Amino acid sequence: MQQSKIAPAEHHVVDRIGWLRAAVLGANDGILSTSSLIVGVAASAAGKPAVLVAGVAGLVAGAMSMAAGEYVSVSSQADTEAADLARERREHAESPAAELEELAGIYRDRGLPDALAHEVAVALSAKDALGAHARDELGLSLMHRARPVQAALTSAATFAIGAALPLLAAFLLPLGSLAVGVSAASLAFLVLLGAVGAKAGGAPIMQGIVRVVIWGALAMAATFLIGKLFGTTVA
Ligand SMILES: [Zn+2]
Repeated sequence: MQQSKIAPAEHHVVDRIGWLRAAVLGANDGILSTSSLIVGVAASAAGKPAVLVAGVAGLVAGAMSMAAGEYVSVSSQADTEAADLARERREHAESPAAELEELAGIYRDRGLPDALAHEVAVALSAKDALGAHARDELGLSLMHRARPVQAALTSAATFAIGAALPLLAAFLLPLGSLAVGVSAASLAFLVLLGAVGAKAGGAPIMQGIVRVVIWGALAMAATFLIGKLFGTTVA
């Protein structure tokens, strides 16, 4: 893999927004699924230790499941990219003239006149033929290859950080006001996170907040009701 020393400035912004969006999503998941779990168990009239155990188990299970899911999905993306690059490398070794013509054809289709398309293809191939094909034929950037371990760790960590917030609220609140308190605190965390995410992504802030509050309230209401129903039938 070749690393360019001077990366275009806008790539850094895109990178940061992509990373931030993934982090906000992970934390969002962590807050919502753990608070729903805690509220559901608390509604079933379980004791405080059971509520906290459920919350901790939810944090660990969720973080592991995020890591595994992300690892599998990014790995298969990386496998596909590697296979595409290997095929491209082979084609280039076997028939460099056809590959050059293919590249020129791509630039012609994008609107360059015939002679110029050929000139561009020759110049780019002389510098880094595989890189030019990866970028302009396959749409891959050799600088931004899929990184499975990094993606898995980021998802797990942001989920765990999000999950720790309702868990901390459950730890601090008395059992009687736990369901209401954890719901309120979690909605507040979701609003804050929604505002940060919308601001970072340049999206309208109010819409993001309204969406996240509606879905958050629905999730917690659903587990509260189910916890209540199960709690009374099981007990
Ligand atoms: Zn090619």
